[in-house]
Amino acid sequence: MKLLFDLPLRPALEMLGSEARFPVGRIFCVGQNYAAHAREMGFEPQRDAPIWFTKSTAAVCHSGATIAYPPGTSNCHYECELVVAIGAPAFRIDLAEALSVVAGYGVGIDLTRRDLQNKARDKGLPWDTGKDFENAAVLAPLTPAATFGNPGSQRIRLTQNGEVRQDADLSQLIWSVSELIAELSRLYHLMPGDLIFTGTPAGVGPIAPGDRLVGSIDGLADLTLAIGEPE
Ligand code: MN
Repeated sequence: MKLLFDLPLRPALEMLGSEARFPVGRIFCVGQNYAAHAREMGFEPQRDAPIWFTKSTAAVCHSGATIAYPPGTSNCHYECELVVAIGAPAFRIDLAEALSVVAGYGVGIDLTRRDLQNKARDKGLPWDTGKDFENAAVLAPLTPAATFGNPGSQRIRLTQNGEVRQDADLSQLIWSVSELIAELSRLYHLMPGDLIFTGTPAGVGPIAPGDRLVGSIDGLADLTLAIGEPE
């Protein structure tokens, strides 16, 4: 098939211990998956169903980058999260089998134009411009699931210019990684390459030009991100 023009290749993440990279397919994200974060956003934590939203692959930014302060916002927030990388197909998978389709784990930052998200949310409108924009899905290299083990009570932290802003552990997830995969596989045929941002703990806040962010989770490669001036 002849194309009128070529699009950029899909982004691909480094997988520690492998020469091959992990190509990114879809990016699913869950909102309000830590009770203290739900409360800081003005909501009571709930267990009705996970709050899903998506980002496109055009939003991927690799750890180590310096990005321009994002356009169209004056209140862009960091959200440090555990990211799950799917390595096998899954549709209506059983809870007990859910972790078997995970290829690896990584640290991510769900950059959020909070002003745009809140404006949309308050009107009952979609969050897309608040969540899905260039450089909004920041991703560190992945660690194979066999190396990391299962998500348990690993510590998750984010520092901003050396100051600790987020500090929690993965046992505080309202929906566990297994539950997220099982739930999502009721809505989609999960495929190798899909990523799941599992939600952020409390302590989200604004970024500013000159910031240096470091996201970390025990057992995974750190994520670093520097914020430059707006374009
Ligand atoms: Mn998030």
